[in-house]
Amino acid sequence: MAEHTVASVSARLVVPCERCGECCRRLIAYAYPEDVEREPRIAQECKPLNVGTAAPAWLLTPGCPFIDGNTCTIYATRPRECREFAPGCAQCVACRTGAPIPDPEEAESDG
Ligand code: SF4
Ligand code: SF4
Repeated sequence: MAEHTVASVSARLVVPCERCGECCRRLIAYAYPEDVEREPRIAQECKPLNVGTAAPAWLLTPGCPFIDGNTCTIYATRPRECREFAPGCAQCVACRTGAPIPDPEEAESDG
C-alpha cells in the first residue's frame, strides 16, 4: 500500500502502487492508538472499534477513506499495517488480479 514498485512478481504483474491501490480497496486494515497519535484524521474518518476498552482500534478498510484515485492521501503518516504490507506478496497479487484474498498466514506459508 504505497508508492513502491512491485518488482518481485512476474513482469506481467509489475505495476507501481500509484497506478493500483487495490489493496486499499479490497483488504481489511486496522489502525491502533499509536497510528491515531501520528495521524489524528484516522479517528475522525474511520469506524471506531472496541471503544472504551484497553484495545481500541479503527477500521480503515475495505474502501479506505484516505485513498484518492490510487494515491494514499496520508502516505507519510499511514498506519503501521499499511507500512508493513509488502507489494508483490500473495495478498497483493490477489488484490491486483481479482482472485480470492488468501488469509495472511496461508499467504506467508505459500512463500
Ligand atoms: S495491491 Fe500491491 S501493487 Fe497494488 S497498491 Fe497494493 S501493494 Fe501496491
Ligand atoms: S491509509 Fe493509505 S495506505 Fe492505508 S489503506 Fe488507506 S489509502 Fe491505503
